Amino acid sequence: MMSSRGLRITDQRRTLAGLFADTDGYLTAKDVYDYMGKRYSGLSFDTVYRNLRVMHDMGIVEQFVFEDGVKFRAHCDEHHHHHHLFCLNCEKTVPIVYCPMTRIEGVPEDFQVVRHKFEIYGYCSSCKAEGKEEAAAPHAH
Ligand SMILES: [Zn+2]
Ligand SMILES: [Zn+2]
Ligand SMILES: [Zn+2]
Repeated sequence: MMSSRGLRITDQRRTLAGLFADTDGYLTAKDVYDYMGKRYSGLSFDTVYRNLRVMHDMGIVEQFVFEDGVKFRAHCDEHHHHHHLFCLNCEKTVPIVYCPMTRIEGVPEDFQVVRHKFEIYGYCSSCKAEGKEEAAAPHAH
């Protein structure tokens, strides 16, 4: 019972990894749930979300927080600790390996830092060429 359950979960993660590998962009947990629901009947949203969390912890997907919610995407090719430049128009991300955390002053010595976030927003080279006025309106996929 436990092992067939385990296999089922492994198979789901494999399907998930394939989905992200084939997707050139972001997926919300809902998108993933809709996709997985067609393949695995009776799958709960919680299970899908838990699998996404595990894939995130394993470094297979990256999680981004946008104004309209959390989205997931295949991990960048950059596998060292990195941060991102975000294009406000096309939502493309560019990884940067520089980490400002090493330079931040004023963190009390007795505060144990566990994680941090650092994001830079702007326009990528192709969106910049289109003109900023137009680029300022976010478009949905
Ligand atoms: Zn990344
Ligand atoms: Zn762009
Ligand atoms: Zn960092």
